[in-house]
Amino acid sequence: MRQLSKELKKVKAKAPKMAALTDEQLQGLTAQFQARYKKGESLDKLLPEAFAAMCEADKRVLGMYPFDVQILAGIALHRGFLAEMNTGEGKTLTATLPMYLNGLTGEGAILVTNNEYLALRDASEMGPAYEFMGLSVKAGVKRDEDDRFENAEKKKIYQADIVYTTHSALGFDYLINNLVKSAKDRFLRPFNYIIIDEADSVLLDSASTPLVISGAPRVQSNLYESADFFVRTLKEDVDYQVEEKNVWFTSAGLKYAEEYYGIDNIFAPEYFEIYRHLVLALRAHKVIEKGTEYMISEAGEVALIDASSGRMLKGVKLRGGQHQAIECKEGLAITQENRSMASVTYQNFFSMFPKMAGMSGTIYDAKDELFEVYGKQVVVIPTNNPLQRVDCDDWYFSDSKKQFEAAIRLAVKKHETGQPVLIVTTMISDTEIISNLLTQEEIPHSVLNANNAFWEAEIIKEAGQMGAMTVATSMAGRGTDIKLGPGVKELGGLAIIGVGRMLNIRDERQARGRAGRQGDPGYSRFIVSLEDDIVEKGTDPEKLKKYIDGEKRISDRRIKRIVNGAQRINEEVGSTNRKTAKDYDIVLQLERKLMYETRDTLLDGGTIERDKIKKIAEENVEQFLRENRKLTATDLNRYLLDNISYTMEKDAAFVNLKNKSRVKAYIMARVDKSLQDKSDSLKSENAMNDFVRVAALSAIDEAWIEQVDYLQQLQPAVSGRSSAQRNLMFEYQAEALESFRKMEITIKKNIIRNILLSEVSLDENHKLHIILP
Ligand code: ADP
Ligand code: MG
Repeated sequence: MRQLSKELKKVKAKAPKMAALTDEQLQGLTAQFQARYKKGESLDKLLPEAFAAMCEADKRVLGMYPFDVQILAGIALHRGFLAEMNTGEGKTLTATLPMYLNGLTGEGAILVTNNEYLALRDASEMGPAYEFMGLSVKAGVKRDEDDRFENAEKKKIYQADIVYTTHSALGFDYLINNLVKSAKDRFLRPFNYIIIDEADSVLLDSASTPLVISGAPRVQSNLYESADFFVRTLKEDVDYQVEEKNVWFTSAGLKYAEEYYGIDNIFAPEYFEIYRHLVLALRAHKVIEKGTEYMISEAGEVALIDASSGRMLKGVKLRGGQHQAIECKEGLAITQENRSMASVTYQNFFSMFPKMAGMSGTIYDAKDELFEVYGKQVVVIPTNNPLQRVDCDDWYFSDSKKQFEAAIRLAVKKHETGQPVLIVTTMISDTEIISNLLTQEEIPHSVLNANNAFWEAEIIKEAGQMGAMTVATSMAGRGTDIKLGPGVKELGGLAIIGVGRMLNIRDERQARGRAGRQGDPGYSRFIVSLEDDIVEKGTDPEKLKKYIDGEKRISDRRIKRIVNGAQRINEEVGSTNRKTAKDYDIVLQLERKLMYETRDTLLDGGTIERDKIKKIAEENVEQFLRENRKLTATDLNRYLLDNISYTMEKDAAFVNLKNKSRVKAYIMARVDKSLQDKSDSLKSENAMNDFVRVAALSAIDEAWIEQVDYLQQLQPAVSGRSSAQRNLMFEYQAEALESFRKMEITIKKNIIRNILLSEVSLDENHKLHIILP
């Protein structure tokens, strides 16, 4: 903080000079900064002047001069910190300072946030200030999330100095950018600087589900039913054990499975599919809960539930066959399972940025995890005005009926004075109960239960008006500014009534933060019941019993401790899940890096020299000979036909099959000839290089996509092995490495195959036509 304050002083010192400039002079500074940067001056050095200039631009264009605390936070963001700034303190404006400074490099500064609504709002509201200063600004999302940009449009977007987008749009773009077939289709530039708004939500809440791009449908397995049937016959603690969210077969259970399927060793590679389906079924039955993790939609489909909002997740399926296993458990038709073509976790994705910063109203509570996973430190920025909101102690009730009644009584009492009330629930279903109770009281109100950020924002914006009554889940409309209507300050500002213990402390602070923005008055109270989901799950029911019979509000300090403990347990489970997701992705991350680099080299015009092709071909031949110690004439002919040439040569019959080096020399001679034929037919060296590049890329992509898909399936399979004696992560990594080695062999084989067996020709316009084998 002391360092940041020193820097703040320097910015303030430059402010009067900036204020005295004409618009043209101020705008002219951008080119000067850029020139100084090009000459080698660092951004740190430029910071005081650039920040002061941007502050002045913010004032002239947007009518807001950043407060000192905002400048302070801006410096922290430039330095790559995670800045905690209370809700309503003006994070959007704050970001313009480090975005401008880092945008000066011309290498792109990206700001990601939670949803399309916020990205578009911030791009259009802050955009004019950057544009005034001569930087280009683009939004990377459209209002309708299904309406996607073409690659050419994306290229224009990512060329901009400043880009506002969402974390998922950017993550998917990264994956898509690495699936393109030619250099001109790529649209991303190397990553430079990123600010993550609502960082706890993006970095933590979104982190346990990786981004996945699906490809072609997989051949449907018929093992789901038999595995489902088998799992129904199992006994807990005999055949399997459960602990928290983990379940695994005991050795007795594995023995039983071997008998059931009539096989000798279930861990043998040929039974991998059986084993995998058993684990999927076991998880579907024993740890994945209906009602909390998924529900059956009206259309009769398994729909996942978003833990933080209680909503159905649209179009999201569990990976690796888990979704199908649940469908089977529920007796529904099994839906099509698609292959995964590319995937990445947010943790690993964001770590690829040379410089990353984040901001949120509620991030301090997760500082340890954020440091561990991202290596990022949190700084807490003081508020501009002292906080006026009154945060009252929780009320505890024995059951949900009394809890809801108390919430309504409190809401009515506040409402009668005209004070606006926002009732925040943990689950979407609770918003409906509250809404019914309010209707009984004849209180007009708005309920936020649609899955649409634009619509929600419009409603929640109005929650601060006199007499307003709004019901929402804690995450609904996050990031939307709730301004107080006239006369509301005098009534005590917005009143927040929280119903139920939230999943984590961040969600609760987020809910309270809806009120008391920028030194406004406000009120908040949470009303908790021992029947709250999280309390029931995280506590010992016996311990709770003695409190349950009471009729009235419970005000025992012990109960507070129990309930808080339950919430902590839930957070720890969440944190463990996120770490596991990251650890699983680490292997993929290393492999992904290698593969993407190889692809990039090829896309950028790299090729494989003739000698290298021959060397790969030779390795393949050696591999083939190792695999066929007793080589027959048929083996050899097959190999030649499958890999070298479609034409049979009679002389193959005269090779001495016992003499491996003769065989090798013979095959290599055929490779040579085949290669020569190709380059003769193409005539030019350039055309040959282009052809080799396409052939190699295709071989790499095919095998890599296969590998990504395999790793996705391996993950649930490994997690079902007994966790007592085995180190799951180690096993997963060992198998992932093994499969990567196999993939390398496949790639080498297919590169040669593609080169030698493709039909290739040049037309009169020197355009290459390739038909891959
Ligand atoms: P946050 O993202 O921190 O919750 P917002 O960026 O949505 O907050 O800003 C909240 C409100 O504060 C907005 O209405 C914004 O216009 C206003 N605001 C922010 N900074 C300033 C400033 N320096 N001067 C005046 N108003 C400001
Ligand atoms: Mg915000």
